Amino acid sequence: MADVQLLAKLSESFGVPGHEKEIAQIMAEEFRKSGYKVDIDRFGNVIARSPACRKKPLMIGAHMDEIGMLVKFINEKGFIRFAKIGGIDNRVLVNQRVVIQTENGRIYGVIGSKPPHMQKPEEAKNAIDNKQLFIDIGARSKKEAEKMGVKIGDPISFDMQLKVLNGKLVTGKALDDRVGCYVLLEVARRVKNKNVVLVGTAQEEVSTFGKGAMIAAYNLEPSQFIAIDTSIAGDHPEMSEDEAVVHLGKGPVLSLVEAGGRGNVADAKLKASCIAVAKKHKIPYQLEVIEGGATDAASVYGEKGGIPSIAICVPTRYIHSNVAVCSIEDIEKSINYIAKLADELA
Ligand SMILES: [Zn+2]
Repeated sequence: MADVQLLAKLSESFGVPGHEKEIAQIMAEEFRKSGYKVDIDRFGNVIARSPACRKKPLMIGAHMDEIGMLVKFINEKGFIRFAKIGGIDNRVLVNQRVVIQTENGRIYGVIGSKPPHMQKPEEAKNAIDNKQLFIDIGARSKKEAEKMGVKIGDPISFDMQLKVLNGKLVTGKALDDRVGCYVLLEVARRVKNKNVVLVGTAQEEVSTFGKGAMIAAYNLEPSQFIAIDTSIAGDHPEMSEDEAVVHLGKGPVLSLVEAGGRGNVADAKLKASCIAVAKKHKIPYQLEVIEGGATDAASVYGEKGGIPSIAICVPTRYIHSNVAVCSIEDIEKSINYIAKLADELA
């Protein structure tokens, strides 16, 4: 059975790109409980070596960071303007509850907006640009906001608890890629006698094929790399199958091509091994080709003369919102599948 409590802890923890300290600590602690030797590198990646880790290990990674915002400006009345960090749709920002990580600890706030009563017809039709949005933290002046600890550059994330839907699905913020982090931690318990290094990577959401995973792969020189991430599910009323073939409940997804080929193109031999393992163990799987978006595999494949890489993803609805939805059954199947892959590949 999936440990929904641990998944909730991961989802609700803080980890805007470049500010992954809190989520990194949870990951490090969980890896240590499973008997791994853990280091956090200069960049913020959590590197967990199994007791059987030698040269050329199989590297399996999941990114720890989440999309979020940064404090850009505090006005004289104490309201905060913010910049987005990572791909956020402006339509999901309005009227959200947020948390700002300051040097004095967490501060809660809400993203305010003009009520419908006061909107002009053209305003009501269009999504509000994030530059017109602001955060209300209850301060009455800039001085008071600063006294509360808020400074320019402070990271901001959504404030949202994880919930279970109908006993079968989970919904929460940052499931891209905390669901991958959860899968990685569960895989850790099952593959500690294998030559593996498991990595919680930093700054994937702001990478154009680089950052944390690339740095970790450069240093670790793995034989092969599996990125665990999320995949856009198309099984809801506003998407069609020809836009996204992936469905919830149909098992883990092998991402064959990312960003129309500008990202990772799954190594042919590794792809064949992955499919053979799924068939051998009768694990259902889905295949996808991504035209927009990529995973950490895109940051790793070109390192050290070429590292065969592939992404294995958990189908997810409403990605990059604070109400992403995944299936518990897919999560369990992904754990089982990646553990079996490590058995064969490491
Ligand atoms: Zn992701």
